Amino acid sequence: MIGKITLLATGWILVVLFSWAWEFAHHKKLDEEAMLKSGRAFFQQILLTREWNARHGGVYVFADASTPPNPYLKGVLRDIPLEDNRTLTLVNPAYMTRQLSELAENYDGVQIHITSLKPIRAGNAPYPWERKVLAAFYRGEKEYGAFFDDGYRYMAPLYTRKSCLQCHGEQGYEVGDIRGAISVTIPHVKIPLLPLGGGHLLIALIGLVVILLVGWRLRRAYRALEEQSMIDPLTGIANRRHFMKRLNEEYQRERREKQPLALIMADIDSFKAYNDTYGHIEGDRCLQKISHTMQKALKRPGDCIARYGGEEFIIMLPNTPIANATRFAEALRHHIEALKIPHKSSPGTGVVTVSFGVAETVDGDPDYETVIRRADAALYEAKAAGRNRVITSV
Ligand code: GH3
Ligand code: MG
Ligand code: MG
Repeated sequence: MIGKITLLATGWILVVLFSWAWEFAHHKKLDEEAMLKSGRAFFQQILLTREWNARHGGVYVFADASTPPNPYLKGVLRDIPLEDNRTLTLVNPAYMTRQLSELAENYDGVQIHITSLKPIRAGNAPYPWERKVLAAFYRGEKEYGAFFDDGYRYMAPLYTRKSCLQCHGEQGYEVGDIRGAISVTIPHVKIPLLPLGGGHLLIALIGLVVILLVGWRLRRAYRALEEQSMIDPLTGIANRRHFMKRLNEEYQRERREKQPLALIMADIDSFKAYNDTYGHIEGDRCLQKISHTMQKALKRPGDCIARYGGEEFIIMLPNTPIANATRFAEALRHHIEALKIPHKSSPGTGVVTVSFGVAETVDGDPDYETVIRRADAALYEAKAAGRNRVITSV
């Protein structure tokens, strides 16, 4: 029973652990999918602004210290001086992305980096991880996303479009070529492992307590049932079924060890008349007193007494020679007589008495039932010889 409860408890813990691991993996997968979609969306947004810029062939803004004329722009009308001494300078998509990237550095939010294996501007040189991802893009990969300490990084290639050739044509790019990539780093809050694990821990503990509690109560109920199935309810001594089981075990052992095993059959004398005189309830009390007296007399742990039938009892004395068993039966007979339970319709002493038949195992007995039969026959003899006596089978 304990083994089964432990097995159930261990199984339960494994189920909860599995559920926790599954849920964590599931959360992680969902988180990755969400971050990938966010990365794609940011990248798309940048592409849109770049396309808008490229479609206009770049846009002119007022040049100042933070937006000086772009030294990498060649072959276009880059600067337009105005009458008020200010200058309009052309901002192409790359310059615009770079400015956005520099602006983003002032905030905790999304960081942007435009990069290329052939950068026109030194600041656009790839970081080591970007270089690896760029190489993968050249091998045919379409996008990249992974968690880093500073957040989730998404990166996708920039393909050369017709509008790009105005600035990048000189580098030998053709429409459709990968010209570089943009990496986007999105802040990311890690999945809270503890609350997820804490919930599961609570479930595991509750389940464990329930299993142990129910298991303990079941064990108690099982033991009570087991005990009940072995005991005679009226007298509280072993019942016949349990006795036969014990006798079988003991008989096998005694045979192996070549030790004598004695059996005593006992039957209350004229008990029908007792019931008729004093009533059935008083008869029950008498049965209880007699069984209690006999049980008290058993001293060795291997000895066993059981209610064999209505007012019949059987006693097993392992490892006991027949002479000792006869002496023991005689002592029991005296004890019961000495109780002086009145029995006025008894033809003999006027008190309740018991007759005994004693037998022991003999080499060559086919089974223990043969010994029972011999003890029974001896008891029958005791009855026939006038009751209240012990007869030993010879
Ligand atoms: P003998 O001396 O030959 O043994 O006579 P007896 O009357 O004892 O034998 P018999 O077998 O004829 O009667 C046994 C009686 O025991 C019959 C029954 O009324 C009574 N008896 C059996 N079981 C119980 C019980 O649980 N309670 C009570 N009160 N009486 C019982
Ligand atoms: Mg009887
Ligand atoms: Mg009787």
